[in-house]
Amino acid sequence: MARIVMKFGGTSVADLDRIRAVASRIKGEVERGHQVAVVVSAMAGTTNQLVAWCQALSPLHDAREYDTVVATGEQITVGLLAIALQEIGVEARSWQGWQIPIRTDGAHGTARMLSIEGRDLIRRMQAGQVAVIAGFQGLGPDNRVTTLGRGGSDTSAVAVAAAVEAERCDIYTDVDGIYTTDPRIVPRARKLRKVAYEEMLELASVGAKVLQTRSVELAMNERVRVRVLSSFAEGPDTPETGTLVVDEDEIVEKEVVTGIAYSRDEAKVTVRKIADRPGIAASIFGVLAARNVNVDMIVQNVSAEGLTDITFTIGRADLPRTRAVLEEARPQIGFAEILTDPNVTKISVVGVGMRSHAGVAGTMFRALADKAINIEVISTSEIKVSVLVAAEYTELAVRALHSAYGLDAA
Ligand code: ADP
Ligand code: ASP
Ligand code: MG
Repeated sequence: MARIVMKFGGTSVADLDRIRAVASRIKGEVERGHQVAVVVSAMAGTTNQLVAWCQALSPLHDAREYDTVVATGEQITVGLLAIALQEIGVEARSWQGWQIPIRTDGAHGTARMLSIEGRDLIRRMQAGQVAVIAGFQGLGPDNRVTTLGRGGSDTSAVAVAAAVEAERCDIYTDVDGIYTTDPRIVPRARKLRKVAYEEMLELASVGAKVLQTRSVELAMNERVRVRVLSSFAEGPDTPETGTLVVDEDEIVEKEVVTGIAYSRDEAKVTVRKIADRPGIAASIFGVLAARNVNVDMIVQNVSAEGLTDITFTIGRADLPRTRAVLEEARPQIGFAEILTDPNVTKISVVGVGMRSHAGVAGTMFRALADKAINIEVISTSEIKVSVLVAAEYTELAVRALHSAYGLDAA
């Protein structure tokens, strides 16, 4: 008998039939004698709709009210799942973030969890009640509802697993594990049996949406055993089921490149004709940081006649704010114009083996050149190389790289 956390994403609870299927899967674990806490997302598409409504009313809307709106999707699914469980004879109770409470900081829209009160949950689980917990949401310092950033239910699940000292945290989704790249765009992607926390952290942070970045960070720090698996699969679990996120030393065969990720949520900004003098980068990125705009890749062009261009990438959703902030600071910074391009994709190759192998970047540039794909910006870290390319080349580039690193399934 174990205490486990089961998390179900949007497609796993997309309609009443799916919710019934999830309920019977949970019942299976309860009948095996496990104490179960469940974390659920909103029904597929719901959160997108809620975000779109906020944006339609006001592109620069109040983040507190955004949270009030977008947190509602999960309120629906916890209630429905609790009803579905009760209907098949499983004792269950729904919990919203504020009821537990799951305390977060006040960064509305991207709040970080600070603490979870786990004692009551444990007591009820011990008494045989399934706790059905709303993912994605928490309670801020001023007692207002907060949300944890898109995909945040993964992080809720890992945090609940840590708080109730669960033996494992099973993340049920619409694919049967973590693959060498998104199996939806590369049919020859291979399922990984295990992936190292650090690699998954890097893959998630550069766009592999299968797990939210913070969930991996938290699992690594709190030593939570995370498994990613399909809520659509039939039949009993085997040792081959899903993908385990583990310590690097649990992985025997280390590949140089483990996976490839892409992110379409990027935008490219070029600030043209700025004076090439000390402090200029500090002034541009200083004003952006002060307004919470996260800058990712950066290049500065060679200067001509004392003037230079600086190109950088930001999250696409931050584009209107970035423009506004830079225009406001134009008198201090001094530049000729701002060019923006939202039609870009960042593609990254990741692997812990890069620490000890040269030539990974070279292979990447050659494979892209062979397909005549132009690289607009490059950045690297110890276990990652990223490039920015025109969005129309996304699939072509990811497939070419997947083959170039020998990742294609036989
Ligand atoms: P959920 O709603 O269950 O949270 P998500 O859509 O957030 O599901 O995440 C699952 C999706 O992640 C898959 O459908 C797949 O398209 C995508 N994905 C991206 N990269 C990978 C990868 N390397 N392995 C598996 N899935 C991936
Ligand atoms: N429903 C939220 C979203 O769509 C949280 C999640 O699904 O993890 O981002
Ligand atoms: Mg998700």
